[in-house]
Amino acid sequence: QSMCNTDIGSLPAADPVLPTNVLDFFKLDGKTAAITGGARGIGYAISEAYLQAGISKLAIIDYAPNEAALDELRSRFLKSTIVYHNCDVRKADQVKSVIDKIEEEFKVIDIFVANAGIAWTSGPMIDQETDDDWHNVMNVDLNGVYYCAKNIGKIFRKQGKGSLVMTASMSAHIVNVPQLQAAYNAAKAGVLHLGKSLAVEWAPFARVNTVSPGYISTELSDFVPTEMKNKWYALTPQGRQGAPRELCGAYLYLASDASTYTTGSDIRVDGGYCSV
Ligand code: NAD
Repeated sequence: QSMCNTDIGSLPAADPVLPTNVLDFFKLDGKTAAITGGARGIGYAISEAYLQAGISKLAIIDYAPNEAALDELRSRFLKSTIVYHNCDVRKADQVKSVIDKIEEEFKVIDIFVANAGIAWTSGPMIDQETDDDWHNVMNVDLNGVYYCAKNIGKIFRKQGKGSLVMTASMSAHIVNVPQLQAAYNAAKAGVLHLGKSLAVEWAPFARVNTVSPGYISTELSDFVPTEMKNKWYALTPQGRQGAPRELCGAYLYLASDASTYTTGSDIRVDGGYCSV
């Protein structure tokens, strides 16, 4: 019985009140957001983009504080409130208490970006990895996203609104070579389908979408030998890695009123990798 949600589709669709100028759809003035893994890399670029779009309050959640980056954002975006919360997304209790604290501080959370992730394990193939490798990747990349989704979903339900954006990967769609990373691929495929599932469950009150980046130049991948990177580029139609800033349009679209009728979608930003 619990599998059958008879409420699906029972609410009348409300026409959102949208600005007359299409460029204003993308403005985040007056809105609030929280983002995991926001201290560096893709999460930092999204944070900066949301601040540039005028977000009023931003909570950066990470387990590795980056004071220099935070100071830099605070000095550039004086009109916005920027708070940092230390949290390991592998820990359900930490995720719950941090999201509760942000709700207490911000009153309303309009946008949540579940972005924190890790990629690497000790062995190249799954039979050469330890069980700990598997569990660690799953705990950050899938369970961490689930803990965030569950806690923000309760708040979105209460508010009657909210946009959840989750970082999947092109590895959710295909098995990229030559490096092998079955745990990561499985976790990201989980994120992709979790996104679609939550979009259906929460359609009456919230939107849920994913972004699937291709090879992006961040510390997650910067240590990869040039020889391996050249193999990546050869398999990428655009022939190069992307920059974190090249993802920001997708994250801004999904967070903002530009995407009020978009839910359960995934945006691939991968230089064409998955199209081959
Ligand atoms: P990154 O390593 O530069 O940044 C990841 C951030 O997440 C860091 O600030 C880190 O401290 C934080 N983090 C990691 N584990 C955490 C935990 N347990 N609790 C809290 N914070 C944690 O990596 P990135 O490239 O910016 O990756 C961001 C997201 O994009 C990840 O989900 C990653 O899987 C995904 N992604 C990256 C690429 C790429 O090529 N860089 C491609 C596809 C998907």
